Amino acid sequence: MNDFAVYVGATNAIDSLGSFDAQLLIDAGANPNRVTEWASVHETYYGKTKHSRQQAHAVRIARSTSKSLDQLVFIEQQVKKAKDPWKTRLALLSVEGNYATLKRRAKDIVEVPEKPAPKTSVRFTKSRKGKRSFTATGSERDIAALEHALRQNLDATRPEGPQMYEAFARLLRSGGGVALAVPRPLVVIPLSDYTKILGGHGDETILGLSDGTTMTGAEYLAQFHGAELEVALFHPAEGAVNLYRTQRFANSKQRDLARATLTTCPVPGCRHAADHCEIHHITAWARGGETNMANLAPVCRYHNRTNDDDPWRTHRGRIRRRRGSPIWVSPRGKPVPNTTHRYGAMHLLFGS
Ligand SMILES: [Zn+2]
Repeated sequence: MNDFAVYVGATNAIDSLGSFDAQLLIDAGANPNRVTEWASVHETYYGKTKHSRQQAHAVRIARSTSKSLDQLVFIEQQVKKAKDPWKTRLALLSVEGNYATLKRRAKDIVEVPEKPAPKTSVRFTKSRKGKRSFTATGSERDIAALEHALRQNLDATRPEGPQMYEAFARLLRSGGGVALAVPRPLVVIPLSDYTKILGGHGDETILGLSDGTTMTGAEYLAQFHGAELEVALFHPAEGAVNLYRTQRFANSKQRDLARATLTTCPVPGCRHAADHCEIHHITAWARGGETNMANLAPVCRYHNRTNDDDPWRTHRGRIRRRRGSPIWVSPRGKPVPNTTHRYGAMHLLFGS
């Protein structure tokens, strides 16, 4: 074996490993990820352990089967997933041969504990170029029935993905489907834009809805503009006009104004649309916070739970109100807007 082969294959890697020194390797320019892997191997064979008998045995086998450093690293990766670490390690060390052989044999040797069943859940993503995804995990019967329904009458000359989506969308809209259950989204439009749209010049105007989606002014005219129009007033400094109530739960007008003020949860990066948010008391109801517009913000369920309600807690940040809009303030006191879907009324009307 020449010098280089000895270096990378190191026939007595297990003995060389005895003088492993992470800092020395880092200083010599070694890849830190590599050094971390080698450190874990070193810890296994030379570190303190309750299993000192098995450890000594492992060193002996590694020496007798001439394990290379790469093989020792591979073995540790396998052991991490295994049910019985020492039994697995000793079995893998006993395999004679090169890296490929070890890898092949590992498939039979490593007993991986069974993974628990995935949790039943539905997840939604942010919009990207007007599209969104969702994943549903549930009973295999339900999902199989859905797939069966979507696969009916597929046209073999076209790709099946888009056809199955069309079938899915039809399913959602058919009688008793999803449409009825969706809350009526608010469309937030500054008055100047609104007159432009009514005049037929709304193709370029992008409107933000409180369900976190967008549409053009032209689409709005074609689909949604009806005879009945509700008007919400926003003051440039105070925000949504106060509808003072001394009740704990916001009434529907307050909820509507809150989700027009902000069309998403105010926490930066949060994609939850105002329509799916809870109405949060900025000063907690329990601390005397009132149910009026100045004290209300749409906040998603998760961030409503993690908000630092108590003024002395500075852990996850809290919602405050600035110039009529709720805004998230970091634990260090820095206000940071959520830029995911900037169609809140105060932002549209008066800028940020
Ligand atoms: Zn949120």
